[in-house]
Amino acid sequence: MQSAYTGRFAPSPSGPLHFGSLVAAVGSYLQARARQGRWLVRMEDLDPPREMPGAADDILRTLEAFGLHWDGEVIYQSQRHHLYQAQIDAWLASGEAYYCRCSRKAIKEAGGFYPGTCRTAHHSAQDSAVRLKVESAVTGFEDLRHGWIPIPEALAQEDFIIRRRDGLYAYNLAVVLDDIAQGVTEVVRGADLIEPTGRQIGLYRQLGQPAVQYLHLPLAVTENGNKLSKQNHAPAISQHQPGPLLCQAMTFLGMSPPAVLQTAKPHEILGWGIAHWDVANLPPTTAITLNLAS
Ligand code: GLU
Repeated sequence: MQSAYTGRFAPSPSGPLHFGSLVAAVGSYLQARARQGRWLVRMEDLDPPREMPGAADDILRTLEAFGLHWDGEVIYQSQRHHLYQAQIDAWLASGEAYYCRCSRKAIKEAGGFYPGTCRTAHHSAQDSAVRLKVESAVTGFEDLRHGWIPIPEALAQEDFIIRRRDGLYAYNLAVVLDDIAQGVTEVVRGADLIEPTGRQIGLYRQLGQPAVQYLHLPLAVTENGNKLSKQNHAPAISQHQPGPLLCQAMTFLGMSPPAVLQTAKPHEILGWGIAHWDVANLPPTTAITLNLAS
């Protein structure tokens, strides 16, 4: 029987799992399991130039080593282009989307937000991005931990890109179409994705679908405020020592795992986590600095 709650972890395989992505995996897993829900894994391999060969498999092996077992099959966005294109074609045909040839520079010169220049230009597909016509702006959304998050007006009103000029599908479009197709009811992810959330809700509206609930977890950042990433050498996490790292991830999420758990098996640690998980214990901040040297 399918349970009502469905959550997911949706990594981009740009490198191996690091502490920041482990926090998102653990937080979304605990929230789903504490609600007796399903927990899916989706590989967001939409942007080949930013991907690392072997990273997708490596991430899956690490999740397994950490006891983070998912339900169902892993889906790969690289195999779903036809679905994204079909939706874009439907919106182009109905006039809800249009081709745009404006350069980033031109938009910057126009004040930083896209003013809808190509709405009436009737460009052809060649050398064009595709933008969604935003008729009803999403002015904010309710986050389960942070409450109402307003979206700046200029951002909310901007016609945004759903397929890039280089032919790559936009993350916002793929995420929403896939979350709908997979029956996801709640999105638990890092706070770096608060900003695009308004656009994603806009896509649900355009599709006539109810949006999911959102819970944004604090983000692990370096001392100068940058998100942990391959670029700033966030250490990949070792598959051989899941205990201490699982406990560290839970501590980061505001929990207090007893020290003895560090040497316990992953499923015991996660079992403790499920029993003690409470959204109200999450730190109320959107970023927490990690000292990478320690
Ligand atoms: N693939 C995105 C990332 O790794 C996350 C997408 C999401 O959780 O909505 O940053």
